[in-house]
Amino acid sequence: MIAVVGSLNLDLVVPVRQHPVPGQTVLGGDLAEHCGGKGGNQAVAAARLGRPVAMVGRVGADEAGTVLLDALRAEGVDTAHVLRTGDTPSGRALIAVDPAAENTIIVSPGANARLSADDCAAAQDVLAAAKVTVLQQEVPHPANEAAARLSGGIVLVNPAPVRTGENPLPSRTDVLLPNRSELAALLGRAPDSLTDLDDVIRAARALRGAGAVLVTLGGDGALLVEDGIGTLIPPFRVDAVDTTAAGDCFCGALACALADGEALEKAARFAAAAAALSTTRPGAQPSLPTRDEVELFLAAV
Ligand code: ADP
Repeated sequence: MIAVVGSLNLDLVVPVRQHPVPGQTVLGGDLAEHCGGKGGNQAVAAARLGRPVAMVGRVGADEAGTVLLDALRAEGVDTAHVLRTGDTPSGRALIAVDPAAENTIIVSPGANARLSADDCAAAQDVLAAAKVTVLQQEVPHPANEAAARLSGGIVLVNPAPVRTGENPLPSRTDVLLPNRSELAALLGRAPDSLTDLDDVIRAARALRGAGAVLVTLGGDGALLVEDGIGTLIPPFRVDAVDTTAAGDCFCGALACALADGEALEKAARFAAAAAALSTTRPGAQPSLPTRDEVELFLAAV
């Protein structure tokens, strides 16, 4: 079983011709609502790949919370440890997208910000039994810290968004999964400062506090740095139409392969295949592939 501890957001997406500037009102197109949040996306990614998944998180006692819970259950995710917060709304992301697919996003964490170490302690049975515990950073650090401590399996940390300061990562991080700009930010460097693969390897080696580091590189694939040695995971060539949630797909798929007992390099190849496939379809959760789809894709390449 895979435990995903993290955020659940109901995304509100409006197409706009042009993003508003401060003080301006613009008219947009029709509103669409999608289930999101890195935690929710990664849980659905793993569930679609056929693994039992338990989610640990918080939603509000509002309609959005019911939508988020129903969507997870429809994917077969165990929601026994998704708690409802009475006095705080569910997490929301307000997203405007312009014709160039450039977006602006305001996240209101709502109930996600209430997830506590005690909530994770209450999910101790699930965390102790999980082969892989998946964490991101859209919930408070003490919750992640408790989940990492209680985890009986591999702790996989997607450091998004990056935290700086005293505790940038949970103190137990077996596999760290940043993208290139997150890796740079973890080292206090500019987001676009890691231009070539040698820079990425050097940066991953310089990071303290994580076991293996697997850096996702968008259309360039991924780079695994284990015991100081860098191994390139080449990208699968696809016609990408929308890379939303590619990182979340990679993370959920990596968790599945690690839970199946695969070594990191092989697990990363499976994750790269699933993520590549997810970029060929629009949207976040609707784009996440099933295990059959990934196996067919792997057999065809
Ligand atoms: P994030 O969305 O978190 O920034 P990335 O953009 O690095 O993550 O994408 C995650 C993974 O998805 C990559 O490591 C790669 O395996 C896959 N991927 C992303 N974009 C493409 C693409 N254009 N073609 C093939 N694979 C892709």
